[in-house]
Amino acid sequence: MKNIYLIDVTNRDGVQTSRILLSKLAKTMLNIYLDEMGIFQSEIGFPTLKHEVNYINANLELAKKGAISNMLLEGWCRAVPEDIKLTFKNCPDIKHLNISISTSDIMIDGKFQGRKTWKDVQSSMIKALKTAKELGAETVGVNAEDASRTDMEKLLEFALAAKENGADRFRYCDTLGADDPITIYRRIKEITRKTKFPIEMHCHNDLGMAEAVSVAGAQGAIENGVDAYINTTINGYGERAGNCDLVSTMLALKYSHGFEDTVHLDEKVNLKKSWKVARYASYAFGIPIPIKQVGVGANAFAHESGIHADGALKDRRNYELYDPEDVGRGEPELLQTGRVITTGEYGGLKGFRHVYDDLGIHFQDDKEARKILELVQYANLHTQKPLTDDELKFIAEHPEIVSSMLTVTLKIK
Ligand SMILES: [Zn+2]
Repeated sequence: MKNIYLIDVTNRDGVQTSRILLSKLAKTMLNIYLDEMGIFQSEIGFPTLKHEVNYINANLELAKKGAISNMLLEGWCRAVPEDIKLTFKNCPDIKHLNISISTSDIMIDGKFQGRKTWKDVQSSMIKALKTAKELGAETVGVNAEDASRTDMEKLLEFALAAKENGADRFRYCDTLGADDPITIYRRIKEITRKTKFPIEMHCHNDLGMAEAVSVAGAQGAIENGVDAYINTTINGYGERAGNCDLVSTMLALKYSHGFEDTVHLDEKVNLKKSWKVARYASYAFGIPIPIKQVGVGANAFAHESGIHADGALKDRRNYELYDPEDVGRGEPELLQTGRVITTGEYGGLKGFRHVYDDLGIHFQDDKEARKILELVQYANLHTQKPLTDDELKFIAEHPEIVSSMLTVTLKIK
């Protein structure tokens, strides 16, 4: 049976969204957590965007050192040759790319306004794809932006052209969240039957169906013997009403009656990391997790009404489809209510060393400690919220990489 793999796009689609932001350190921590969670690939950002370059190269370096061990790190850019060349100029070691271009008539007419025809779109994609492979890309996913509103014949032509010219996957973008589960299932079934090409679902939540649409599309692909990849974001953060939520998708694939026996979620995926990943993303983005969030919301395992509480107490299976432990919940969280020493943007050496001693990290002398303290100050300047224990440990473990990641230079002439 074919597998469903997860490609998380929080660090691209999530962060490009209005009014929500992540520091480069937080983006990196998310990559590390997603790797620990067994996610197949992270779309880490924009290699053509100047302020992303040091962060992307630092993350590629982390992968080389084994600090990100299994997950592929992929960059996103437009499917135009100039973007591919700039990508490899900025990030020569990047090995995985997704390249994107609009395929629907409404977008080709509305966005390019006569500057590009359907033929131009195809040839731009092919040129970009070939350039990426020539410059060293090991895998390239070709994205059809607005695929769900693209005429089927054209979409097939586009996907087959991508396959014939060396692409590794085709990304079906439901950019406006216009599909429903039945429509996407039928469309993906037709595309995969005729192309036999691995396919990614990239679905938005404008009609509140992002997860349902993603898993239905994936099912259509695997029924045709084609691997499916679902694009997710942590806590569903993304353009407008958001993207397909990571934890909900994993739970749906694992626990829904229809999928239990027929669908294989990539076995590397560790659902138990859900709580940690969701909580960190919420903290880093500065957005609370909704009380009813699937799996990780405050009420996901809460019971009060008479009949429900009685039933849950007698046997939790009466009212719970899965256990809190399945998503990594259940451990008590300690809150320090007395004296506390912290370190950060304005911290000094004594407090800094005290904090790190508590974390089990000890420095040879003040000189060595001062170097890391300075990095901590700058890291905190970037994040503008108290640094977490994991962030502090990460900074001490990889000082050179953190230093280059935090370096952002802009000179206005
Ligand atoms: Zn998107």
